[in-house]
Amino acid sequence: MGAPGSGKGTQSQRLVQRFGIPQISTGDLLRGAVARGTDYGKRAKAAMDSGQLVVDEIVLGIIRERLAERDAARGFILDGFPRNLAQAQALQKMLTGIGAALDAVVLFEVDYDEIIKRISGRRSCPQCARVFNSPASAPGDAPRCDQCADHPRLAQRPDDEESTVRRRLEVYERETRPLAQFYAAAGLLRTIDADAPVEEVTARLIGALSSVAAPAVSCSAPKT
Ligand SMILES: [Zn+2]
Repeated sequence: MGAPGSGKGTQSQRLVQRFGIPQISTGDLLRGAVARGTDYGKRAKAAMDSGQLVVDEIVLGIIRERLAERDAARGFILDGFPRNLAQAQALQKMLTGIGAALDAVVLFEVDYDEIIKRISGRRSCPQCARVFNSPASAPGDAPRCDQCADHPRLAQRPDDEESTVRRRLEVYERETRPLAQFYAAAGLLRTIDADAPVEEVTARLIGALSSVAAPAVSCSAPKT
């Protein structure tokens, strides 16, 4: 868990490469279930089409189906779920039901002012969709894409506007951050300072997981 812009998606990808276990991102899962037209996908689509939030039961059902796939047998990284206490409790119940359990919950701590500065400084190219962090521009002109032939002006995506970022951080602080106490009480919480270059954060993350991410080999040879 971590605030929007804390880098948890990027770091999850690095764990995928290192440990060969899948990253289960609920946003991607939902889109995938909708695209494949599974039962849960159809119900999720109906909710989204009518402008409603997809209820937890559907999200959990989709996660449960995903965990049953072969590549998740050795482990998985859950990214973007749970986001509030009710979801955390429902997740725990579901995992108990299928005989799985969380080994660790990593909290990415970041400075909110840094996140606001970084995200609201992003611009993207309307043609190639490349994202530029704090692009330079000529005085009096918007920054331009140096990758496209006609150098279109870069624009700010609505998601990256400062007011939007502030609102998402408030929701995170109010709904999701309190889960730290929930998981600390369960003995699962590992907190890392994620205000650092990507490589450094990866090292801290691996360190925080060292107690749970050991290869699954048995140390006890049968006694003869
Ligand atoms: Zn471009």
